[in-house]
Amino acid sequence: MRHVYLHVPFCQRRCSYCDFSIAVRKRIPAREYVDVVLRELSLLGVTDPGREPGDTAAVRLDTIYLGGGTPSLLPPDAISALLTSLRDAFHVTSSRDDVEITLEANPEDVKPESAAAWRLAGVNRVSLGAQSFDDGVLQWMHRSHDATRVGDAVRALRAAGVDNISLDLIFALPAELRRDWARDLDLACSLHPAHLSLYGLTVEERTPLARWISRGATSRPDDERYAEEYLYAHERLARDGYRFYEVSNAERDGHRSRHNSAYWSGRAYLGLGPAAHSFDGRVRRWNPGAWESYRLAVAAGLPAVEAEEVLTEEQRELERLYLALRTDRGLPRSACPPDRVTAWRGEGWVEVEAERLVCTPEGWLRLDALIRDLTNAGRAV
Ligand code: SF4
Repeated sequence: MRHVYLHVPFCQRRCSYCDFSIAVRKRIPAREYVDVVLRELSLLGVTDPGREPGDTAAVRLDTIYLGGGTPSLLPPDAISALLTSLRDAFHVTSSRDDVEITLEANPEDVKPESAAAWRLAGVNRVSLGAQSFDDGVLQWMHRSHDATRVGDAVRALRAAGVDNISLDLIFALPAELRRDWARDLDLACSLHPAHLSLYGLTVEERTPLARWISRGATSRPDDERYAEEYLYAHERLARDGYRFYEVSNAERDGHRSRHNSAYWSGRAYLGLGPAAHSFDGRVRRWNPGAWESYRLAVAAGLPAVEAEEVLTEEQRELERLYLALRTDRGLPRSACPPDRVTAWRGEGWVEVEAERLVCTPEGWLRLDALIRDLTNAGRAV
């Protein structure tokens, strides 16, 4: 296990489109959260899981990712306590920046003091939930920041020594919002983030957005807008030197997310906290989604695992296909029947690079259909 994910479930309100496993709290039970997560870690018996027998190297942990929810709602001393305990558990003794440590943050939580304290605690990458630079859109999303906070947050992080900054943006919003996607991308680029994550709006059940749509108060996001805005983002970001290395993620100057890249390469990872998933290469386990259920299980000294799934060879093959095609690593050409290679290239959905099939933006738009096509053709990696 070289990759650790911590799920911090707390948010101060629910965004209009969000169906994540969160606990809405005005007051964040930070002390209790830290105690419970560290108890889960000790119940798992994690001592030095990254070390091979006979291996004396001290550092094997590669990434830690604090996601949520809203991890930036935890006070800096709670974040510091979590990171110190993880370093101790994994015997990380070298320079703190050998390990990529990402914190997901909402722009309104980033102040000069918090940014400096996170950096001191070892955080060296921050993923900011910007979503848009249009205040009307941010209100519609039920976000609690306004557009100017995003730039303030980026500047505070840089002043504190955190240069590896990623911005999240959501596209394909309902037409009546009149969101100017080109303007939002221009404003995002003007902040020169190292990384951008772009997500198309999806309508999940039991969200305010689903209710607005069902009573006709807003329109359903449409596929045409999705395709148009997705392709435009590729073109616009390329102008500023960004390169998509995964269907939704673009970087420049080599700033890929090492943590997410581990997921996309099928590597093992350990998840801690409510709703967190773990994977050892064959078995996927997940914790209860509700904070209370998770907290009670761990407090009783029970494994927090709610369920597990042992992947069959067929499922693993399907995952390998999917993961390979969703990244710029691509699929070995030999894994794809020649007639599919010819057809996909003819349509402009893939390119061949060093004997690997790599999706073009148009290919990434129809990734699920390509996988279905490939599995129907009866071939696997
Ligand atoms: S901040 Fe993130 S996790 Fe929290 S409600 Fe909004 S989208 Fe969901």
